[in-house]
Amino acid sequence: MATLEIRDLHVTVEAENATKEILKGVDLTVKQGETHAIMGPNGSGKSTLAYSLAGHPKYTVTGGTVTLDGEDVLAMSVDERARAGLFLAMQYPVEVPGVSVSNFLRTSASAIRGEAPKLRTWVKEVKEAMERLQIDPAFAERNVNEGFSGGEKKRHEILQLELLKPQIAILDETDSGLDVDALRVVSEGVNRVRETGAVGTLLITHYTRILRYIKPDHVHVFAAGRIVESGGAELADKLENEGYEAYVKGGVSA
Ligand code: ADP
Ligand code: MG
Ligand code: MG
Repeated sequence: MATLEIRDLHVTVEAENATKEILKGVDLTVKQGETHAIMGPNGSGKSTLAYSLAGHPKYTVTGGTVTLDGEDVLAMSVDERARAGLFLAMQYPVEVPGVSVSNFLRTSASAIRGEAPKLRTWVKEVKEAMERLQIDPAFAERNVNEGFSGGEKKRHEILQLELLKPQIAILDETDSGLDVDALRVVSEGVNRVRETGAVGTLLITHYTRILRYIKPDHVHVFAAGRIVESGGAELADKLENEGYEAYVKGGVSA
């Protein structure tokens, strides 16, 4: 069982010539097979957590630890994190000019599996995964994220998730910018991956809407750079009814 452990994580960013502490002691454990939702107001540091786990150079870890099965994730390069089984879908995915979706997926799969997938089975795997996500076959020849609509970006993320089979997946705002149909298709993809029991998922979201389709085992409220409350799926219902007001009172929000 792969386990991602985040302990007392502190992270700063450089903003307008000043160093700002965004993460102020995050504690979280995600195990393979579990689905966790992190929910919180805008600006509370949710994406900073995702970027920090991804090893984005703009975010400096000033304290705490992140381990995957005891291995120090923070000491790993971005590629090593992927090979170790971490998958990170970003709120603002980058364009990769000149690299088609199809090449990108095969290169990623080769890097993660340590060998190139056999072409015949791979082509079939990709085709079937694209069909399940209702992605047009022509999409495979487009350049990664170039001119992708919000929905296409999210479907592409879930396509990667299904094909790369990580142990721990971190999905930041996978629901943003999706209409109801796209949200359903994307959620079904996440649920398919979940049903394999092989993936632990950290679903980061501002809105409760996606949680009608994906039922988390654990819900965490994130405010002002840390987890301030944890519970089961019922906590998401409470947030849907009451919002985040109770957590941001007194200017605690970043
Ligand atoms: P959330 O995802 O919860 O909306 P973010 O992690 O995006 O929150 O942002 C948290 C805080 O950190 C905000 O005040 C934001 O302006 C600041 N921040 C995040 N990333 C950067 C950055 N790269 N440069 C400067 N400030 C940043
Ligand atoms: Mg935000
Ligand atoms: Mg965000």
